[in-house]
Amino acid sequence: MILSAVTLHGSLRRLGVDALLFNSSEILPSVNLRHVTGFTGSDGAVLITAKERHLFTDGRYGIQARNEARGFRLHVVRRRLDALARTVKAAGVSRLGIEASRVSHEFTTNLARRLPDVRLVSVPKSFLDGLRVRKTPEEKARIERAARCASDACGSLLERRLTGRVEKDVAAELETLFRRCGADGPGFETIVASGERGALPHGAASDKVINVGELVVVDYGCVIDGYHSDETVTCVTGAPTSEQRKMHQAVYTAHMRAIEALRVGMRVRDVDRIARNSIAAAGYGKYFVHGLGHGVGLEIHEPPSLSPLGKGLVEEGMVFTIEPGIYIEGFGGVRLESLVYMDRTGPELLSRMSKDLIVVE
Ligand code: ZN
Ligand code: ZN
Repeated sequence: MILSAVTLHGSLRRLGVDALLFNSSEILPSVNLRHVTGFTGSDGAVLITAKERHLFTDGRYGIQARNEARGFRLHVVRRRLDALARTVKAAGVSRLGIEASRVSHEFTTNLARRLPDVRLVSVPKSFLDGLRVRKTPEEKARIERAARCASDACGSLLERRLTGRVEKDVAAELETLFRRCGADGPGFETIVASGERGALPHGAASDKVINVGELVVVDYGCVIDGYHSDETVTCVTGAPTSEQRKMHQAVYTAHMRAIEALRVGMRVRDVDRIARNSIAAAGYGKYFVHGLGHGVGLEIHEPPSLSPLGKGLVEEGMVFTIEPGIYIEGFGGVRLESLVYMDRTGPELLSRMSKDLIVVE
C-alpha cells in the first residue's frame, strides 16, 4: 500500500501542488484513501506532503488505523478539520491538492475557511484512479478469490430449477451462497432479469416469476477484503428457440473474439471494436447498447473503460470485464461477462462459469 504513497510524494510537483489531501466519510468514502494507506475505516483524512504522511481519524478507529496504515503518522482526534488545517499550516503548504470527486462542497468550504491563505486545487480523478489500474499480486489474489467464490455459488444455484421462482428469491439464494463460500457479501445489487426484463441491461431482480421458455440474465459478483468480482451468465428455462440460440451465439462469438484478441499494448477501444463488429456482423449491431467492459477492483466500476470512447492501452496487471450483450425490447436479452486478468503473455480468466447457453429447468 505504501508503494502508491511513495509514488504520490514524487507526483506532487507534476500535479502543481505542495501536498495532497484525501478524505473519507460514511457518505462519501474514498477508495483511493484506502488504497494509499491500507486503512479500511469509514472516517479519516490523509495528508501527503513531499516528505510526510499523516492519517487523521477518530477514537473509534485508533487501534485499527495503527495496525493497517503502516508508515503514516497517526492523529486520533475529535475535530479532524482543525487538526488537518494545523498540520497543513505547519507544513508550509500553499497549494493543496484535493480529490474533488470524493469531497463534498461542505467539506471544501469548511476547509477553505480554516485555510484562507491556501489555494485548494482539484486533482484529476483520472490521475488518482489511475494509481489503482495495475493490480499488485495481492490485489489480484483477492479479486480471484472473489471471482472463484461467485462462480462456484452460481454453479450451485443453477443446479436447482428456476422456472416458477421469483427473481428476487433467486438473487437472495445466490447472495446466501456467496457468504457460504467465504465472501463478505454481494459486491453490487444482483441482477436476475428474465423474459422481457432481460432487455434491461441493469434489470435488478424483481417480483416477476420466471416462466418456462424464457432467457434469464444473471449478473452477479461478491466482495472479499474490499475487492470485487463481476460475471454474467445467460440461461434458458427449457429448450431454446432458434431466435434465442441465434442471439446467444452472436454474443458468445463476440465475447470469445474479444478475449482471443486481447494483448498488452493494444488500445482499449480496439477491444470494444472487435466485439462490436462481431455483433454487427450477426445483424444485432443496434442492440449492443453499452461499452464492452470496465475495470474491477476496490470499486465495481473503475478504469479502464473498454468502450468506443475508452482511452489508453491494455496494460499488464489490469483486471477488467468483457461483457457484450444484446437487448431487444419486448423480447429479452443475452449478456455474457467474464472477468479477465491481463498477464504479460495474454489474458487469464478469473471467472469460471461456462458462457454457453445454460439450459435449466
Ligand atoms: Zn456484471
Ligand atoms: Zn460488469
